[in-house]
Amino acid sequence: MSTTTRKVILVTGASSGIGEATALRLAADGHQLVAGARREDRLADLAAKVRADGGSIDVRRLDVTDRADVAEFVGRALREHGRVDVFVNNAGVMPLSRLDSLLVDEWDRMLDVNVRGLLNGIAAALPIFQRQGGGHFVTIASIGAHRVVPTSAVYSGTKYAAWAITEGLRLEADPSIRVTTVSPGVVESELASTITEPGAREAMRTYRADTIPPSAIADAIAFALGQPSDIDVNELIIRPTRQR
Ligand code: NDP
Repeated sequence: MSTTTRKVILVTGASSGIGEATALRLAADGHQLVAGARREDRLADLAAKVRADGGSIDVRRLDVTDRADVAEFVGRALREHGRVDVFVNNAGVMPLSRLDSLLVDEWDRMLDVNVRGLLNGIAAALPIFQRQGGGHFVTIASIGAHRVVPTSAVYSGTKYAAWAITEGLRLEADPSIRVTTVSPGVVESELASTITEPGAREAMRTYRADTIPPSAIADAIAFALGQPSDIDVNELIIRPTRQR
């Protein structure tokens, strides 16, 4: 791959699910990956897989709720690789529950990871993209950014926010900067494991019976990144054919 098409791509939440699949796919495509999450053992496994296949990846412990940590994640990538071409804001949590269960700490965690984490990524990468005269933000929102169901009020609220923030970014950003929102439907991952409320957990067992693999989302991201620089894929919704 030539240096003009080989991109430096940062992915948050790369220790499992969609983030891991995205790092694997984009590294296999020949890009330089920088992958972050909190579980360092899982990141080490990812790095071993990528390198065994001949790919290039740096893995870093990253907590997206910590603004300084995200700034250092991006700053270090810039220092080591000379530029940052793509920032995939993927880290997210989904401890679904009814509002009257008052699981207020879980509400806070969703707001912190899904909204503040996204904003921390934008704050760290946007000035670099502006200085470079180019860059590409990819936000992993959700079908929950388009509809609300009982138990999804707070999660959907964070994903509606992620959708709105990303759309605002697209409208405001310099035309050299591309912005893509990817909204997955039910994808096989560890996401539902954060649900503690028994009713929501049970409902999700049925709702999540039909899944698509995380590689389907990775492929969609690769499609958006692979377009010529004057084409911006604004939004993609990808769900199992059987999901309504
Ligand atoms: P997973 O639970 O498998 O992955 C979530 C990732 O987020 C993990 O790598 C986790 O890593 C990371 N993460 C969580 N908290 C933090 C934090 N504070 N700092 C850094 N990383 C963090 O689920 P998915 O792969 O499914 O989720 C990825 C994204 O896709 C999320 O934004 C989710 O909302 C979205 N999505 C998923 C759908 C699905 O059906 N799977 C549907 C629609 C949207 P670690 O714990 O190691 O930090």
